[in-house]
Amino acid sequence: MALLRARGPLTRAELGGVIGLSRATVSATVAQLKDEGWVDEQAGTAGVAGRGRPPTLLLLTKKAGLAVGVDLGHSHARVVLAHLGHEVLAEQALQMDATWRAADALDAVEGLVGDVVAAAGVDRAGIVGIGLGLPAPLDTSGHSTSTTIPPDWMREDPARAFAERLGAPVVVDNDANLGALAEARWGAGRQSKTLVYVKASTGVGAGLVLGGRVFRGSTGTAGEIGHFTVDEDGLVCRCGSRGCVDVHVGRRALIAQVAHSQPGISSVPELIAAARDGDLACTRVLADAGETLGVALAAVLNILNPDRVVLGGELGAAGELVLASLRERLRRHALASAVSSATVVQGQLGERAEALGAVLLVLTEAERFASTSATARVGARTAR
Ligand SMILES: [Zn+2]
Repeated sequence: MALLRARGPLTRAELGGVIGLSRATVSATVAQLKDEGWVDEQAGTAGVAGRGRPPTLLLLTKKAGLAVGVDLGHSHARVVLAHLGHEVLAEQALQMDATWRAADALDAVEGLVGDVVAAAGVDRAGIVGIGLGLPAPLDTSGHSTSTTIPPDWMREDPARAFAERLGAPVVVDNDANLGALAEARWGAGRQSKTLVYVKASTGVGAGLVLGGRVFRGSTGTAGEIGHFTVDEDGLVCRCGSRGCVDVHVGRRALIAQVAHSQPGISSVPELIAAARDGDLACTRVLADAGETLGVALAAVLNILNPDRVVLGGELGAAGELVLASLRERLRRHALASAVSSATVVQGQLGERAEALGAVLLVLTEAERFASTSATARVGARTAR
């Protein structure tokens, strides 16, 4: 069951192969778990050759437990409810005022969790864990490592506040880490072994997935590409440094750059839409953003040698308007071998990536929820 939770639907043969049990033992155990309602069967898709009977996939049921993913941004909240069989059951999002406070964030998420539980028609007591994505550098225990970057509502201990309010264990992670996890498992990085995901929205961050696991560094802040210096004489950044990527490519910077030619534009989606309509100023700003990101990513390519770079966040929706100049910069500044082995693509999951990654945190990093009472309850039920 732990394997099905972490990997998602598997065939009997795959299951037996990984745990090293005979076909007969696997079949007997699966039959028992099916009888008791923990495991269900689903028709798989035919193999590459398209011949033969498609294999039957095994997956956990709603009875095995529910996972909730929460993505809290500077001005939005998104909640995804899934069951441990890797199937999304319901999803809700809302826009918030950018000046919202901790109490507003708690109220909003509690309301959204109530909505998705009702929409899916499930029992809230089945929630085994909640993954919470936040837009700031975090240490491994989920506390912000910066006093200046996170929004006001993150100043306290968000994991504890949400766990108390929602009555389930909560594990917090940086939003870009979660976007990376989701694109690696369910999106544009499914075949990738070494993935770099860039989330460019209000700020710019990156998540690294190496061999299927998020790489967080020694204290949790790995991947903060937004605070890579691209102009030593540039404007001072909220991190205290000068000329960071964030100062050039963050939402406010992009909108400020078209304030003279397009004073009516107040969001990145509007800017992208204007560029698609042929506006030269907006097209130029997006191309410049690609160049800036490319300079920073060239260093990442040389150091990490990824096979896939995925651009997500609001800016990801610009696709080739950003990616063409980004690739050009990589060719100019990174080693040829590092460039040729990395495919640079737009994210597939869009603005859902971070919340889906928060669900995957519950599914694939179950050990982080293991010490909690809710998980222990399911474990005890399973053991019987
Ligand atoms: Zn900075």
